[in-house]
Amino acid sequence: MVKASGFLIALDDGHGLGTAGKRTPYIPSIGRQIQENEFNERVTYFLKLELERCGFRTLLTAPTDADTPLKSRTDAANSMGADALISNHYNAFDGKFDGPGKDAEGHSLHIYFNDAEDRRLAEHIATYLKQGTKQVYRGIIEQNLHMTREFNGPAVLVENGFMDNEREALLTFNEDFQRETAREQALGICDFFGVPYAAAGNGGPVGTPPDTGGTSNDPVAGKRVESIYKGAEGLDFYSCPTFDDRYRAGTLKFGYGFPTIVRNLKVEGADMYEVKNSRGYVYYVTASPLFVKVEGSSQSSGGTASPPATGGPIAIGELTIIGVANAAIIQDRPDRLTSKNLGTIRKGRNIPVTGSVKGKNSSSGYWEVIYNGKRAYVTGEFGRYKAY
Ligand SMILES: [Zn+2]
Repeated sequence: MVKASGFLIALDDGHGLGTAGKRTPYIPSIGRQIQENEFNERVTYFLKLELERCGFRTLLTAPTDADTPLKSRTDAANSMGADALISNHYNAFDGKFDGPGKDAEGHSLHIYFNDAEDRRLAEHIATYLKQGTKQVYRGIIEQNLHMTREFNGPAVLVENGFMDNEREALLTFNEDFQRETAREQALGICDFFGVPYAAAGNGGPVGTPPDTGGTSNDPVAGKRVESIYKGAEGLDFYSCPTFDDRYRAGTLKFGYGFPTIVRNLKVEGADMYEVKNSRGYVYYVTASPLFVKVEGSSQSSGGTASPPATGGPIAIGELTIIGVANAAIIQDRPDRLTSKNLGTIRKGRNIPVTGSVKGKNSSSGYWEVIYNGKRAYVTGEFGRYKAY
């Protein structure tokens, strides 16, 4: 039996939340326009949950709301060695609603010229997409698109409907349609890799987080939590209970947060809050009082009063990771020969710094950083420092 965990699937949500032009016409029944990325991001999120439940590893090529350059997206997928790439979009024709029956409509799958693997993946996905919500099937289209051309493995870009068709524009907003689309794509991806599809409700890493002793009696349950982290890149949050970059779902700027804490969890030896956003979607964010504060509790979270009194790490600035191919190793002590590897941080990402030390076995010394709320070390030449 082929193991899903052997495959990394790159998930690409087209455009950014504010991308000019990429939106529906004004929709009178909801009183606004819908950004294409609102749909792309939701389907990608649901697809991520589907695939992770089936055992796949996933990589978000554009994890923030920004309009990530196409090259960064394919570079991320290629450098991580992703085994397939799925890009979700919503099509447009003339930018206006012409009335029922008069607008362009339907879904299509876009692949690169003469790419047999692209085509095989697209065929598997199309089999299921055709079975869902009734739409015109516009077929598998060979086209010169950056995402399918530059990604090294099989890649499919799905146009899931037309933004300037009022009926299909309203579908972008429909969570049942978003979830159904993600499920159909996941079924096709499972078939392509020869992996059994795991239907929702059968457990798995997402949707049923391990019970790690958190209870609804948590004094913080139901409260708002927000970022007090001043770093330019914001505070990471995740789609599963982990600090693993691969499950990073987005970042919180200073003062931004989640309206509802569900519970407190112990994850990889550190505290994490399971939280819900205003739409009820579940995410995970550090519970370290160095990075977040809980509304209504006296000053900080988890019953800890103010910053730790006894020399807990205090960040003085942040480090941008440079000078490595993909990622720098985060060590538990400033000696690369005897240290334990606590994790990695990707090139270009930032991490809070508390200082620097000479340490051992590194001519460039070590940066002392805060990782998962604890003191850790990164080789000097791999970081560029900026004071807060
Ligand atoms: Zn698009």
